[in-house]
Amino acid sequence: MDKIYLSTPHMSGKEQDYIQEAFDTNWIAPLGPNVTEFEQKIKQYTGASAVCATSSGTAAIHLALRLLEVGQSDMVFCSSFTFIASANPIKYLGADVTFIDSEPETWNMSPQALERALADAKKEHRLPKAVIIVHLYGQSAKMDELVTICESYGVPIIEDAAESLGSTYKGQQSGTFGDFGIYSFNGNKIITTSGGGALVAKDPKMIEKAVFLATQAKEKALHYEHEQIGYNYRMSNILAGIGRAQMEVLDERIAARQNNFRFYADQWKHIQEVEMMPELPNSVSNHWLSTITLDIDKKDMTPYDVMSKMQELGIETRVLWKPLHSQPVFAATPFYEHVQGEEAVCEQLFRKGLCLPSGSNLTEAELEYVSKALETVLKTNKGGVVSAI
Ligand SMILES: *Cc1c(COP(=O)(O)O)cnc(C)c1O
Repeated sequence: MDKIYLSTPHMSGKEQDYIQEAFDTNWIAPLGPNVTEFEQKIKQYTGASAVCATSSGTAAIHLALRLLEVGQSDMVFCSSFTFIASANPIKYLGADVTFIDSEPETWNMSPQALERALADAKKEHRLPKAVIIVHLYGQSAKMDELVTICESYGVPIIEDAAESLGSTYKGQQSGTFGDFGIYSFNGNKIITTSGGGALVAKDPKMIEKAVFLATQAKEKALHYEHEQIGYNYRMSNILAGIGRAQMEVLDERIAARQNNFRFYADQWKHIQEVEMMPELPNSVSNHWLSTITLDIDKKDMTPYDVMSKMQELGIETRVLWKPLHSQPVFAATPFYEHVQGEEAVCEQLFRKGLCLPSGSNLTEAELEYVSKALETVLKTNKGGVVSAI
């Protein structure tokens, strides 16, 4: 059997038609009909009021922060348990960051930690200009609680829905709760344009401004006139052709990934050491990645041991995101834990968790192989050799 990867691109076959259309009409340059059509499809699917397709999800976060006028020495709050792209744009703008812990039911931002952080910030007269809430692995954060808290302090929300396109919370699409939401179409995401992203906003005027900033902030004039610093952040018309075709199969891709999760859950329900990522009632996860926590301390094993044994069996797995507050690049950054004085929830998750092969193109045979492999690996001891299954 070939190596089984965590998450690989899954083309529908129709991507080439839209790319060909761009070549046939010579719409190679940035923008063009594929971009417009791709944005329209995202808008229809998510119910967002307006969309700007970007060169990456990171670029979309950067634009959202700019539109909220985040600058030097401003404060921005961000989930700690996430990929670094969630927080990097804060630093691009010279702003400061405070990281917020996760809570155990969704693994996403803890409302109680956020509340404490905002109360302190208010006392210090330094409320954040934005709170970046991440929906990891497809699971929505507790949006009712988080939105209520942010509204009570008058702080805008940017939802990092890079991993949660198509997930819902109480029937509403992930990414559409905040003032801004962002999606990513990087190669490993639920659908891909090989590289790309999108910004959505409650206020369509904000998206007009985003398009302006993303195209070098060119003023309306007969020559090149600039009053502000802009970026080259728009998606190309070629890549948007891939996205157009991918949007047409998004529901199928979500169903396949949800099926992976249910398959694993069913296979491992009798294995005590394995716990599937929790699912919040009233929310539907796209299950971008199937993730688990492992209770293997007694065996003197860590997820890294499991990862390397799975590797020997030709299976790629990966530990969960290392919390950003513990990254060297963010040393000495303020952090609010879920329960004061206890080990942070995101640190516990990082210590115990593992991501499994989750592609929408996995076959039933591959899923079975992964399931059996994990079972076998967990039966061996730390130094034990895993033989063929
Ligand atoms: C992938 C990802 C991003 C960044 O998206 P890019 O398109 O790669 O820039 C941001 N946040 C999270 C949580 C992600 O997983």
